[in-house]
Amino acid sequence: MPWERSINVRSAMLRGLRGRCPHCGTGRLFYRYLKVSPVCEACGIDLDRYPSDDGPAYFTILLVGHLIIIPILLLPIVWQAPPAIIVPMVVVPLIALTLIILPRTKGAVIGLLYALKVHRDDAALHTADRPE
Ligand SMILES: [Zn+2]
Repeated sequence: MPWERSINVRSAMLRGLRGRCPHCGTGRLFYRYLKVSPVCEACGIDLDRYPSDDGPAYFTILLVGHLIIIPILLLPIVWQAPPAIIVPMVVVPLIALTLIILPRTKGAVIGLLYALKVHRDDAALHTADRPE
């Protein structure tokens, strides 16, 4: 395949993080919020062959859940303010942050899969999917 040249993992992940094709960096990676374009509009690479699966959700939970929620819980105001006020003040920004981070982590994971040349065809190598 012409797009199988090796690429820097960092570059591919940064391109995906920006929502761009990990191969050329110009075409859009997503045609809707989390829908990956079947092919890149700029270079024609098959973008649908890089299965990100649950990786983006895992990294989003890791970032939001562990690096944001835990520090918030350490703030005394969270425990002193009335729940009717503090819950919407915390939950709404967390939902917004999660929705902002999720497509970026998905792009970065697809960029990583692209750089490591992990395709949907390699699913048989995944130990969890291997038949007994
Ligand atoms: Zn491209």
